[in-house]
Amino acid sequence: MKQNVVLEELAGVERAWAETLARIDGQVPEHMFSSMISALKPLSLEEGNFTLGAPNAFAKDIISSKYIDVLSGAATGAIGRPISIVLTISSPSEMVESVAERATGREEMQSASRRLMPEEALPKKYTFDNFVVGDSNKFAYHAALMVAEIPGDKYNPLFIYGGTGLGKTHLLYAIKDYAEKMTPNIKIRYVQTSTFIDEFIATITLKRDKATFDQKYINNKIVLFDDIQALSGTDATQGKFFDIFNLLHQSSSHIVLSSDRPPSEIPQLTDRIRSRFEGGLTIDITPPDLETRLAILYVKARAENVQIPDDALIYIASKVKDNIRSLEGLLNRVVASARLYGTKIDLEMVQDVLKDQVAEPHQSRTPSIDVIQTLVANYYNIAMDDLVGKSRSRPLVHARQVAMYLCREMTDATLITIGGQFGSRDHTTVIHSCKKIEFNIKTKRDIFQEVTELTNTINKSI
Ligand code: ADP
Ligand code: MG
Repeated sequence: MKQNVVLEELAGVERAWAETLARIDGQVPEHMFSSMISALKPLSLEEGNFTLGAPNAFAKDIISSKYIDVLSGAATGAIGRPISIVLTISSPSEMVESVAERATGREEMQSASRRLMPEEALPKKYTFDNFVVGDSNKFAYHAALMVAEIPGDKYNPLFIYGGTGLGKTHLLYAIKDYAEKMTPNIKIRYVQTSTFIDEFIATITLKRDKATFDQKYINNKIVLFDDIQALSGTDATQGKFFDIFNLLHQSSSHIVLSSDRPPSEIPQLTDRIRSRFEGGLTIDITPPDLETRLAILYVKARAENVQIPDDALIYIASKVKDNIRSLEGLLNRVVASARLYGTKIDLEMVQDVLKDQVAEPHQSRTPSIDVIQTLVANYYNIAMDDLVGKSRSRPLVHARQVAMYLCREMTDATLITIGGQFGSRDHTTVIHSCKKIEFNIKTKRDIFQEVTELTNTINKSI
């Protein structure tokens, strides 16, 4: 009971901040908005004072010297009474203390602080702690953990393969996160294989220094290549990869590879590379069984601070069998709908919210960025050129932001790739768009509705 009151207060502060942010947009330069303003945390709203926490003294100084008036104007408009902005420097744990001191345990406080920081969802924090272990992934999990604990020892390379949305990227990031905690100065490099290829090709075509390229990979204790199946068929790049692989291996650096298929099924991979891949440990991740899917939903629901009865959880878990990203998507939709309409989550509600959800087998497929862009352009009735173009007109900006958000949510593409496909925009623009739409989905019913309809349309098309 007590905790509910606290959470309600938190939700009020969060909402006031979301509204304020929405009003500021356009009044400050985009780079300022995405770097400084969106890094502020709403701490408390008491009488006329809205206290915001800046991540450091630098951010606090810049904002107080330049943007304090814009902020208080926007907050006044959003809240509907005169508001002064009070800036402090906050660490994430201090953030919720003002309103959450009364919260019962430490755990609730941490969940509450997570709810206040929607921007933390980007990029998502992938750790071993929030990875649910079941029969389908336990070997991959244990092998990954062992690499993080003692890199360069056994199982080198570690090759993890499995279908889309089964947690490969999650495990790779978890290795990085954990190894960095264990050994503070350790050097680790995570790379999407497509980025490795692009950078290598750029090095050749733009005649950049090859040694600089090599150094980025060689000087690391662990190198994680995500989606290594992309190496297929790129001859010169395979040669370079082979050399780097050997240098790493000789110096007892650990190489971890993820792939959507086993080494034997990656087409046009040279035999020498395939045999290197098979020279370590190859482990697959299979689709999770019902029990694991339920455990995942349970953990995510708890992190979101929502209670969902078992029959409703089972219903959600039965909708998607072979893609955890889709499973999370369904849960997010249920939670968002409950928050927006103030409904209680039970079986009937979940059935209703998910009634348009396409049944499998389509779930396991990932849409391409092109498909998302085309469908979003159709939905808003605008031309594709405008969607990826430079115009800052409101409807176009909105459609563009929704499209970027959907690319981020529904594909494996990196922020850099998404930015590239939206008229060579910077990845910080993509982050900004995703944060904005995330806020709006939580606070505006029409936008929640638009994104839901678009997600369904995209899912149906693949
Ligand atoms: P892949 O790289 O295999 O396509 P990801 O690692 O991107 O898949 O996982 C997709 C989503 O599912 C991520 O949000 C991830 O956190 C989540 N996920 C996957 N497996 C698990 C798991 N075992 N426990 C918790 N979350 C998981
Ligand atoms: Mg992945």
